[in-house]
Formats: sequence, structure tokens, C-alpha cells
Amino acid sequence: MTVESTLELHDVSKHYGKDIIAVNGFTQRFASGSYVCLLGPSGCGKTTTLRMIAGHETTTTGDIKINNNSVTKLPPAKRGTAMMFQNYALFPHLNVRDNVAFSLKMRGTDKPARHKRADELLDMVDMGSFGDRLPDQLSGGQQQRVALARALITEPSVLLLDEPLSALDPFLRVRMRSELSRLHDELGITFVHVTHSQDEALALADTVVLMNDAKIEQAGTPTEIYNQPRTEFVARFMGGHNVIELSGERFAVRSDHIRLDKNAHDWPATVSFVEFLGSTVEVTVQREGCADITATLKDDVFQQQPLAIGDSVGVEWAQSAQHKLV
Ligand code: ADP
Ligand code: MG
Repeated sequence: MTVESTLELHDVSKHYGKDIIAVNGFTQRFASGSYVCLLGPSGCGKTTTLRMIAGHETTTTGDIKINNNSVTKLPPAKRGTAMMFQNYALFPHLNVRDNVAFSLKMRGTDKPARHKRADELLDMVDMGSFGDRLPDQLSGGQQQRVALARALITEPSVLLLDEPLSALDPFLRVRMRSELSRLHDELGITFVHVTHSQDEALALADTVVLMNDAKIEQAGTPTEIYNQPRTEFVARFMGGHNVIELSGERFAVRSDHIRLDKNAHDWPATVSFVEFLGSTVEVTVQREGCADITATLKDDVFQQQPLAIGDSVGVEWAQSAQHKLV
């Protein structure tokens, strides 16, 4: 079964008062069944964008369409969207089953039917045996799953998630990441997931929208965003890149594409820092009149020619590894 779930934002902006522009001219079309990550530093407009899609916030300009119908003026419950909040916001006095069934109760669905549906969704998020518990009898990860089931019970065509993993410890975060992926595949609807973590966006998204200062800085597949950063901001935010300026041109070179050779002298530099990271070693080198350059070397490559602070090395990279920035 395929569910139609295209999402389109056209020139969407949000102003607060005269001075604050939270979102500035957001235009993007997401195909049905996309996994979209809105990525960017704190304050760049991610949550505001999500809240406008959900209808919890009005737009100042622009139009939002779901399945080719404008929803810009519709109330949240009429949009076919559902939102999962950062803090889960479960009702503390309702048991898990009634938390999940809540929206159906509001819609007047009778108790046996809404409980049956709630139990099905709890099964889907692996919480089938927890229906009678109260939220404070659950771990953070379990509350998270309940919040997901609660959002999904309205059968949205677009699921909106605001920093859904940020309250979890690192181990659970990685596990929930694969759960979200599985759920997305199973449901076939569009997910829009807000995060400030590059790793999370690269791991989950088929479309990454990197925002900076209320605007889209770059949108594309994870590979495009990572391998072809358009600007210095993208290269630096995604990490793993050096921004190098040579004869008036500026470009990005992935740090794992940099080679260091004690016996080469074409482009000499001095080792200023060495950090062992397990399977790789990060070596930072300095050269006069140039920003520091970091090379990520495979552990075995490093061991063939160990480097220490103060060593002189030649810095090399292939022409094809240079990526020009605007
Ligand atoms: P993000 O989720 O990327 O951290 P937000 O969308 O929450 O960013 O906020 C974007 C900008 O809009 C910030 O500068 C924030 O302070 C401002 N902002 C958000 N909500 C309001 C509001 N209700 N009133 C005034 N300014 C707001
Ligand atoms: Mg936010």
C-alpha cells in the first residue's frame, strides 16, 4: 500500500514583530514518503518551520501544500499531519493505552475501537505489553515510543518530529534511530525530523535541508550535502572538511582525503596536534599564512609512518578532492 504524502512549502516566512525573522523564504518540495531532516544550529528556524507545517504557528508569507492541497489556512487537526514533541508531553494521569487513544477519543471513536487501535500501534512500536502502565513508570526510551504511537494513531500523511532523540542517552539514541528508520519504511509516509545533529541527519534522511539564519543554506541527499558542500558554512557545519584558500580561491577538501608524507616537501607544514580516535588518527598541521589543516588517517596508514608534534611533513591531496565553495 502506498500512501500519498507529498509536502510542499513555497516562499514560507515567519516574522515576529518588526525585527525578528525566524524563517525567511523557505521553498522546497518533498516527494511522497520522504525522510526529511531539517538540520542546523540552534535558533536557525527549524522548530518554527515545523510548527508552521503542523499549523501550530501561522505563516507570515507563503503557502504550504500537502498532497497538492493548500493547508496554510487549515487548523492542525485538518491537515493530515501529526507532531511528536521534544518532551513527549504524555498525560501523566492517563495510562499508556489511553494516552495513545486520546485523539480518537476526541474524535468520538467508541472505547473498544479506540483501545483496539491503540494496542495495534503499541505493538508496532514494541510496547504492546505496557498499555496499563502510567507514563512515570516508563523509561525515557519507552515514553518516546508511546509518544510516537500517540502521534501515529491519527494516521497522518506527514509525521513531524522535533528533536525526537535529543533527550535520550547516546546508546538509546542510536537504537531509536534505527527504529525510526524501520517505522518510516513500514508506514511509507513523509517524516520531517528536526535535529541539530549532522550524524543523525546523515544516518536517517533521504533529504537533508541545512538551515542557517532563517534560510536554507543547502538542500540535497546526505551524500550531496556531505561531499559537495556549497558554502563554507555547510563544509564547517557538516564537519570532516578543511576549508583551504589558495591563490585567491577557496575550496573544501575532506580531511580523510589529505595525505601527509615526511618525505615530500612540495607543500611543507608542521604537525601541531595528533589525536588517536580508534580506527583513525587525526593529525593537525600548521603552515604559515594558512588556516590549520586536519588529516584523518587510517590507523594502519598512520602506523606505517608515525607522526609527532613538531615533525615536518608535505601535505598532499588529489586535485579531484578539491571542492570549490561559493
Ligand atoms: P531552532 O528550532 O532552529 O532552534 P526556532 O525556530 O525555535 O529555532 O527559532 C528561530 C528564531 O525565531 C530564533 O531567533 C527564536 O528566538 C525566534 N523565535 C521563535 N519563536 C519566537 C516567538 N514566539 N517570538 C519571538 N521570537 C521567536
Ligand atoms: Mg528547535
